[in-house]
Amino acid sequence: MRISDILQKKAKTFSFEFFPPKTEKGIFQLYDTVRKIKELAPDFVSVTYGAGGSTRDKSFEIVDYIKNTIGIETISHFTCVGHTVDELQTSLDELKSKGIDNILALRGDSPKENFQEVPNGYKYASDLVRHIRMRGNFCIGVAGYPEKHPEAPSKEQDLQNLKIKVEQGADFVITQLFFNNEDYFRFVDDAAKIGIFCRIIPGIMPVTNFNQIKKFAEMCGAKIPQKLVSELEKVETDATEVALLGLEYAMKQCRELLEKGAPGLHFYTLNKSAATRIIFENL
Ligand code: FAD
Repeated sequence: MRISDILQKKAKTFSFEFFPPKTEKGIFQLYDTVRKIKELAPDFVSVTYGAGGSTRDKSFEIVDYIKNTIGIETISHFTCVGHTVDELQTSLDELKSKGIDNILALRGDSPKENFQEVPNGYKYASDLVRHIRMRGNFCIGVAGYPEKHPEAPSKEQDLQNLKIKVEQGADFVITQLFFNNEDYFRFVDDAAKIGIFCRIIPGIMPVTNFNQIKKFAEMCGAKIPQKLVSELEKVETDATEVALLGLEYAMKQCRELLEKGAPGLHFYTLNKSAATRIIFENL
């Protein structure tokens, strides 16, 4: 089923993101986690894709299994960096043959070392969106950045680039993780001012490990509020206390997002169900 059809029927959607584990054992554990998430009746789950195709086969095997064996609607992340147009089309055909209806169309980041730009490839996610709209029959999601994409010269320019993705045919947006709801609501307002009216689903990553979240936040340019950092620092040697604080913060953040009109939540699970499950059940 297309996620755009789900969005038409439901005012708020709840979705969960997973990444392909490196080992066979990890994949079995992932399926176990996804089965637990199924009990929460998610609207869809998403599976990430290693930029350049590093996880291509595993990502496709996992979306196939989750959709066709576990029985949850899926969206396959898909990046264009490092692929030729023909390779992209082959992958899209493969996803279609597995019954996948939804693609999160991304540029991805080129590897820092030994990266060779492909002569016949795409530069931006908007190019991939245009390609999919013209040559594939998919519902398309794209990424949005409430605090600006790290490479963009300004928030305004980044939003204009998001608008191009929507104009090329994206049906909805999922945001990068953020901790300050004001950033999200300002982003949605600013997007509407320049004519972006599709759903912008907030992406939430509950803090379960302080060092890990600091790394993620730095990588994607998300600010962790100073008050939360100070509180986490006080308990950083106690993993349980860190997780409890993280849960409490995420719960408050999610509640406020929903109360103030966000069209649902997309949880970055890091392949663990416990934290998101507790948050979801308490909302
Ligand atoms: P784009 O939309 O192409 O934007 C990239 C940069 O180029 C931005 O700074 C933008 O402002 C700028 N830009 C865009 N168009 C133009 C233009 N025409 N002219 C000039 N500048 C332009 N990465 C993965 O590798 N695998 C994943 O599975 C994955 N999943 C993600 C899921 C979500 C919800 C999010 C938010 C991110 C995800 N990423 C993933 C990370 C993403 O690939 C990186 O953030 C990447 O750096 C940008 O991808 P994009 O699709 O946003 O690119």
